[in-house]
Amino acid sequence: NKKTGHSSKPIKDIEVNQSEEPTTSSSGRTAPANSGNYPLIDNDHPPLLENFTPPVPRESQINGNAGSASRDINNLEPIFHLRSRTAAASTPNYESLDYEVCENTLFQDEQREQLAERFSLRKDIIRWIIFIQIGIITALIACSIDIIIEELSELKYQFLIKSVQENVPLSDATEGDLVIPYLYWLLFSILPVAFGAAMVTYIEPITAGSGIPQVKSYLNGVKIPRIVRIKTLAVKAIGVITSVVGGLAGGKEGPMIHAGAVVAAGISQGKSTTFVKDFRIFKAFRDDHEKRDFVLGGGAAGVSAAFGAPIGGMLFSLEEAASFWNQNLIWRTLVASIISVFTLNIVLSAYHGLNDFTFTGLFNLGKFDQPLKFDYFELPIFMILGVSGGLLGAAWNSLNTKINKFRKRFIPWKIGKVIEAVVVAIMGVTLACLMIYFINDCRPLGNDPTNNPVQLFCEDNEYNAVAALWFQTPEATVRSLFHDPPGSHKILTLALFTVVYYVLSCATFGLNVSLGVFIPTALVGAAWGRLLAMVTFYFFPQAEFLHPGKYALIGAAANLGGVLRMTISLSVILMETTGVESSFFFPLIIALISAKWVGDYFNEGIYDTQIQVNHVPMLTWEPLPQYKGLTAQKILSSPVVCIKLRDSAHYIYQMLKKCEHNGFPVVDNVEGNRRSEGRVCGIILRSQLIVILLKSLYVENKRFWLPETSIQTFRDLYPRYPSIKSVRKLDEKINYTVDLSMFMNPSPVRVNPHDSVPRIFQIFRALGLRHLLVINNENRIAGIITRRDFIYK
Ligand code: ATP
Repeated sequence: NKKTGHSSKPIKDIEVNQSEEPTTSSSGRTAPANSGNYPLIDNDHPPLLENFTPPVPRESQINGNAGSASRDINNLEPIFHLRSRTAAASTPNYESLDYEVCENTLFQDEQREQLAERFSLRKDIIRWIIFIQIGIITALIACSIDIIIEELSELKYQFLIKSVQENVPLSDATEGDLVIPYLYWLLFSILPVAFGAAMVTYIEPITAGSGIPQVKSYLNGVKIPRIVRIKTLAVKAIGVITSVVGGLAGGKEGPMIHAGAVVAAGISQGKSTTFVKDFRIFKAFRDDHEKRDFVLGGGAAGVSAAFGAPIGGMLFSLEEAASFWNQNLIWRTLVASIISVFTLNIVLSAYHGLNDFTFTGLFNLGKFDQPLKFDYFELPIFMILGVSGGLLGAAWNSLNTKINKFRKRFIPWKIGKVIEAVVVAIMGVTLACLMIYFINDCRPLGNDPTNNPVQLFCEDNEYNAVAALWFQTPEATVRSLFHDPPGSHKILTLALFTVVYYVLSCATFGLNVSLGVFIPTALVGAAWGRLLAMVTFYFFPQAEFLHPGKYALIGAAANLGGVLRMTISLSVILMETTGVESSFFFPLIIALISAKWVGDYFNEGIYDTQIQVNHVPMLTWEPLPQYKGLTAQKILSSPVVCIKLRDSAHYIYQMLKKCEHNGFPVVDNVEGNRRSEGRVCGIILRSQLIVILLKSLYVENKRFWLPETSIQTFRDLYPRYPSIKSVRKLDEKINYTVDLSMFMNPSPVRVNPHDSVPRIFQIFRALGLRHLLVINNENRIAGIITRRDFIYK
């Protein structure tokens, strides 16, 4: 018990001490009476990535839950163990996914049957069909979100412009009052934002934020409750529409990844848990491993649809989200992305009344009219922009993290979260109005490509350049900054806009609304890049290479690199969404890499920071430096709760009630009840044991269940396996026996106690394991290693 600092009492005690009442979590999972060292998952109120406050462990939790048991621990454990448990106790108990395929006898039987039926080929074809479906459906959802946002925003800004024109009469444009338009603007921001925030907060809190950290954690192997439900998708879609229409500083790309992931998880499983509907198709794909691959494809299709960038979308998923990939998966993901963009183009072309796909309006961030050229002496300038992007990005990440910690601490109430979103919306509108009111930036009409030029306090034949920046969605503003001709703004306008948007986006990311961070980050960078070009041009008017659009693009890349810390996918997305030539890849990648390197010096990318702050047990790509020189003995947990190959139903039932682990080594050659001294012959999961008990798969009544029991018996209950509470008391079956030989995974990955931790980490990481058995030379269990042991030991 000392080593785990966690587990239950010695196994002997579990067997004999039946009077000890197990403690029950709100989720229905039962914990050993003397454990409870990790707070339990509450399925009804899951921990949120962006909003979760790790529960502070009560003393009883640290010391053990039940009276006698806590006394035991207090008496026996040296203080340093209690300390290490305190650290673990303050982390939410995220469970892991089972990416390792359990190749038990039932699975092998299925494989043999399928070989006879040429099922493998059929399964492969179905897999392709599912990926294509994912691409199409994700694109249709993306189109709907896109079109609704576009239409509602157009209505909103047209109304505001009309209101401005009525209250600031055109005949006397230099005079007038902005109060009424301001009030309308507030109204059109507050209503949608409050509605969206309320939906997120009260209906499905997991939809808060961009969704990328959640999907990333899921793909790493961490089970995030409710992340891929249909209800989540619905709230996410409405949430992002209301937030963007409400004018918050955010974009739709993160939520699109999440939407794609939900679509993928839903389609590939052929059933909906929300609607309790099983279509009885795609049953062979009902396991974590298969589902994970589809979710990756869905995420890629989502980004591709958000930007109209198939290769960028696929690379984004691989670079940012995926933890595991292989050649086939990359292929399928690319196909899902291409299908997604193709569908998007068809629908948007039809919507815009076009009959081909060469319409430049399909480039999300607008196509540059002239090919973008650069001279080699500009490369250091791009690098400087990259460095500035890295510094700005690192500062943004750290400020945003501080703001989010502050909100977690001081705004715990649901209504407070909604009010906070409304306050940030009001702040945005007010700052925009103040800028419009106080900055006199009038430009001649016809110069600016904005759809809705507002005259406001300008002379006839002029439009207000500040209002032009604010009276549109953030995505449209990025387009303007890339493509507005030189001289479209004053230096002061852009300088203030950069500062205001920097602060606004920082305050917005982390609110309880569905929003992505990509567009506001690109917007700040574009404004910053353009500003820098304008200032330099002001001092060196002969420097004609300082094309503001080009520098806006590099600035956007730099800031994105500084905040998100991605390079390859961002450069490809920027190229695909603006249609620049491949020769411009070089400047983009220079800016991105400089930004990433500078930013990495200070902190991690925003998605990783969020994951860390919320204590999600993510496995890094590489073993941590502190593992160097350590062996398995240092991190394993022992004694290990084991099960005999043929064990009594009563023991299994009691053990599951008292112990909350999810994997148990199966042993044979056991003398008496000294299970942990037996020889290892496999591993069995908690979920499998519960199904065995629920379906009464006992040796004594084998002839009844054997003929119709197959791997499907277990898959049918995936992914929401019942808890041990749903198994009725054994009563007359108390003396029944369970034979695990056909259910257990007979080939669990095993290592030796003397193997090095870095090597073990790589095995664990590469194979997507959940449990790793440490065995001695006699094949007896020496310990067990799970994800938590790499993170908290
Ligand atoms: P996960 O949490 O990753 O889904 P799990 O629930 O099986 O997997 P945990 O219960 O979270 O694993 O593991 C917590 C601690 O208990 C870890 O230190 C781990 O090594 C240890 N542990 C896991 N399974 C057993 C077991 N069967 N017997 C004893 N200790 C175990």
